[in-house]
Amino acid sequence: MLWLSESHKHSLKVLTSGPALHLLPEPVRVRARQGGAMRHAEEVTFGGSGLDRAAELRGDIPALAALANDGATRCIVLWRGKPLVRGERGLELVRLPLDHPIMAHAGQEPVLLGREEAGAIFAHDISHWAPEDLDEHSLTAFVDASEQVHPRVPDARFAELRMIMTRLNARDAELAATARAIGSWHKTHGFCAQCGAPSVVHKAGWERICPACGAHHFPRTDPVAIMLITRGNKTLMGRSPGWPKGMYSCLAGFVEPGETIEAAVRRETWEEAGVRVGAVRYLASQPWAFPSSLMFGCHGEAISDEIKIDPEEMDDVRWMTREEIADAFAGNNPDVLPARKGAIAHFLLRNWLADRLD
Ligand SMILES: [Zn+2]
Repeated sequence: MLWLSESHKHSLKVLTSGPALHLLPEPVRVRARQGGAMRHAEEVTFGGSGLDRAAELRGDIPALAALANDGATRCIVLWRGKPLVRGERGLELVRLPLDHPIMAHAGQEPVLLGREEAGAIFAHDISHWAPEDLDEHSLTAFVDASEQVHPRVPDARFAELRMIMTRLNARDAELAATARAIGSWHKTHGFCAQCGAPSVVHKAGWERICPACGAHHFPRTDPVAIMLITRGNKTLMGRSPGWPKGMYSCLAGFVEPGETIEAAVRRETWEEAGVRVGAVRYLASQPWAFPSSLMFGCHGEAISDEIKIDPEEMDDVRWMTREEIADAFAGNNPDVLPARKGAIAHFLLRNWLADRLD
């Protein structure tokens, strides 16, 4: 196995893992998961399933080698960021043995995602596989509805995660989002950011090391503030250029270096809509692996009404009342397509309508 390479043996001495949530007693874990924010926060899609990520095994070469030979170990598979799933209404990730023939397309060693009741679970990326009759154009559409079937697993298909995210259970959603995010990090971080030399996979996929200069590189997560801005009975909704006709959602933007999440909420709302925001509070977060964001859902109270759009960033921004949003969710507002189900904007709006932001 590649895990037994010299660089990995070396890694054992280099880093140790910090304390992890799964090591804490159950009551503490439950309190830790609940936190002090919104009561329903972790019901959001990709809100987490309490997966034991087994971080202490990532650098343990003998343990990883044993898992590789353990008949209970399973692997999920992604192709160009699309997980392999099976089923109709309710979908499940396909869990295959590590030596399944489909893994022959894998470009690198699998990533250890964690430990389930049945055994360890890994992820393999088989993006090198070239399906027959592939329509490349469909993969870059705003919504990729195409599905690809590999002949060695004919009862399953690769499907765009955003299309199927609400049909996966919490565990499979967490596994798929984790595998997708870390897979795209490896794809775009093959070279050392310090010296430019090719870097190598390390720590069962959770690190890259540069053999030339010795730098360690870790998976990145980009913080994004997404804000439910309200003023009385109305909320601020915007649409970006290129979105499908009528689609509106909460405003959002990347948190900048040196900035708090609250400050980012105020700055982005001012830049995109010209609206001033006073009190801001955090509500819920959502890992958004498209490709590597962590969405911080916040509630901001507007202190001004007038909208002045930044045309570079926004196609339109408008105030919408609770009634208009409720109509849109019910499909009775032909001018407004509300935020996609499964996205945190949809979750925040739904909870606002139901008076459940606390
Ligand atoms: Zn380097």
